[in-house]
Amino acid sequence: MNSPLDRSATWPYEDGSPGHFSYARDTHPTGVEVEETLGALDGGHALLFPSGMGAVTTALLTMLSPGDTVALAEGAYYGHRQLFDHLAPWGVNVVEFAQTGAPPAGADLIILEAPANPLLTMPDFEAATAHPAPVVCDSTVASPLRVRPLEHGCDVALHSATKVLGGHDDLLAGVLVARDRELRDRLHRTRWLAGIVASADTAWLLLRGLKTLRVRLKCQEENARVLAGRLADHPAVMTVRYPGFSFLVSFDVADGQAANRVERGVRVIENATSLGAVHSKLESRHRWEGDRIPAGLLRLSVGLEDPEDLWADLEQALAQA
Ligand code: PLP
Repeated sequence: MNSPLDRSATWPYEDGSPGHFSYARDTHPTGVEVEETLGALDGGHALLFPSGMGAVTTALLTMLSPGDTVALAEGAYYGHRQLFDHLAPWGVNVVEFAQTGAPPAGADLIILEAPANPLLTMPDFEAATAHPAPVVCDSTVASPLRVRPLEHGCDVALHSATKVLGGHDDLLAGVLVARDRELRDRLHRTRWLAGIVASADTAWLLLRGLKTLRVRLKCQEENARVLAGRLADHPAVMTVRYPGFSFLVSFDVADGQAANRVERGVRVIENATSLGAVHSKLESRHRWEGDRIPAGLLRLSVGLEDPEDLWADLEQALAQA
């Protein structure tokens, strides 16, 4: 059955007092419904945000104090690093560390990414959760169907729901899933006071996307496995990174110019940013991230198209590399 969409900003008081829903900045019925679904998927208490970055910002405002240091997984989503640098005037320090090992001793908050976008390393959960600081894990690329960070001892799972959870490139959303209720309540208070709130329309579209998550991910993953295998045997490809699951593959061609020719060469695959949706996309991340990413690296987010059409497209684009 489809969920009703209630776009109300306010609801009448009940017998002279606010009821469960009174003002949408606090909570709204469609938001609660999607949060229940997301909480069940990750095994915790979920909160919805208007973007992945809105979710990260809320986590920072709630879990850090001025002077604190965040240990951020090296090669994790570049926007996280940019946000921390932007917040430097507020006294937030950031150090990057190799997430395949232990986080640095003095960290006050640890941010992992499973797997990291676009270098596709997986974190050492045991080493991170042995550290006294709370651990947030961005599992956007895995989705809760492949990695459930709370089961690995993390305190919060984070998603850009703009990606595979929504799956159709028609919404922006973010999610935090807290292991304990008390932290969920503190995150909720920040969301409410800062007004980092997703609309009912966003929640409704996300509910619709989640209904097909299982089949989309299975098919995208099957396609990604086929392409990762064939890319590894292609003479124009130097390196292939694929964690063995999910829809994201990164591969290197000779240099930045070759990468640009592949970007301009693809026809079925879109040359565009973002990942996780039903349509395949490819882009160079060097253009955004500079020297932390090899100039020849191309990030391929594999969609639902026929894998033979995708391979034919890659082959003809790689012939121009
Ligand atoms: N986390 C990861 C792994 C991402 O790839 C992105 C966006 O690309 C984000 C977080 C930020 O999410 P949003 O664009 O929904 O703010």
